[in-house]
Amino acid sequence: MSPTFRGGIHPPESKKVTEDCEFSNLSIPSKCFIPLQQHTGAPARPVVNIGDIVTEGQLIGASEGPVSANVHSSIPGKVVAIDTVPTVYHLQRAVVIEMEGSLSASASVRDKEDWRGMSREEIIQRIRDAGIVGLGGAAFPTAVKLVPPPDKKIDTLIINGAECEPYLTVDDVLVRTFPAEIVEGIQITLKALGIANAIVGIEDNKGRALRVLSGAVKGAAIEERIQVRGLKTKYPQGAEKQLIYSLLRRKVPSRGLPMDVGVVVQNVGTIYAIREAVAFKKPLFERYITVSGDLINRPGNYKIRLGMTVADIVEECGGLKGEPEKIIFGGPMCGVTVHTMDMPVVKGTSGILFLSKKQVSVEDFGPCIKCGRCVKACPVNLMPCDIASAVEVGRLDLAEGLSVFDCIMCGSCSYVCPSRRPLSHFVRLSQDRLRKKKK
Ligand code: SF4
Ligand code: SF4
Repeated sequence: MSPTFRGGIHPPESKKVTEDCEFSNLSIPSKCFIPLQQHTGAPARPVVNIGDIVTEGQLIGASEGPVSANVHSSIPGKVVAIDTVPTVYHLQRAVVIEMEGSLSASASVRDKEDWRGMSREEIIQRIRDAGIVGLGGAAFPTAVKLVPPPDKKIDTLIINGAECEPYLTVDDVLVRTFPAEIVEGIQITLKALGIANAIVGIEDNKGRALRVLSGAVKGAAIEERIQVRGLKTKYPQGAEKQLIYSLLRRKVPSRGLPMDVGVVVQNVGTIYAIREAVAFKKPLFERYITVSGDLINRPGNYKIRLGMTVADIVEECGGLKGEPEKIIFGGPMCGVTVHTMDMPVVKGTSGILFLSKKQVSVEDFGPCIKCGRCVKACPVNLMPCDIASAVEVGRLDLAEGLSVFDCIMCGSCSYVCPSRRPLSHFVRLSQDRLRKKKK
């Protein structure tokens, strides 16, 4: 039986609609809104001014401080504003660029360089220069993850290809389309870490991806030890701690990090971007995403320029069939609901969903009936029902005693609750209030 973790849920997969859609390119937008913060950490500092002419892939925001990431222009053109725009990270400053001139082939078709001759430091510097961040959604700067503190001895790189969120198929299609590139990206990342062991975890509902990648590893005749392993299809199989436990039976301690158990985790999309950054010196200014949901006319998997708005994407995908009840960046379980079509796609956007009322629960919630389903579903052994009750009566002290900071915000508890109680929101609320109290 495929390995897995305790708890979790089985929401409808809803992947059929796009899983056979090969990648296609959306048209280059005439205007891009490129936020200076598309990552965890400090925003980048703008290094261009209004009126400047920029090329595709040019640095427009320089990383600031130890945890930050560079930001690059996704289209050639003129900087027409540096303005505040709505983003998934709330309001952010963004460089607004209007397309001018032609696309420079040099940014997308560069000569491949021999990364095998590069030092670890050179590889990591290229990843830093290219502004690579985790593309699975967390958007943590990758170069920072690749340089753990000296007391953390890393022995395994785990590549997250689980893609356990319903609707999303971009990682599945990426692995099936670019298996050799993914294998090379893993080799580069292993070299950056100075280790030789990697495990790729893919849910067993993606049999084609498992077969294709296993074949690519066998065919590559490489020195590194790369295993491709099937995982039980269960949400949230792709959450870092659950993935590590499933593959290695190692438990990341409460409030700890994967590096505490000798592991670095990278998403398959990040591995692909690492290869482009190191072997082709290509900055991260475009990515693949899934566009899906019952309201979009042409669902699919698309390559898009970062900073392209939802409105432009909708137009490119044939428009909407009706007024969406919800537009979600990411998957329906962990994604962020957005309220404007002006929202730009950022580095961590793995998909955009357009869902009708039929697909979205809008019922009022009721009282807890003590059924225990939320406790059974919680992958980190929390008591979501008790945390919610504590928050409702203003007892933050009780909530804190129930280990609220171990919550991984997977939403499994809310999903299974027969009273439709928004349990994960209560947990987040308690975290926010406790953090504020401690300031
Ligand atoms: S309490 Fe947190 S970790 Fe547990 S099921 Fe709810 S959202 Fe997931
Ligand atoms: S699932 Fe809902 S009703 Fe059941 S124990 Fe949890 S909060 Fe109460």
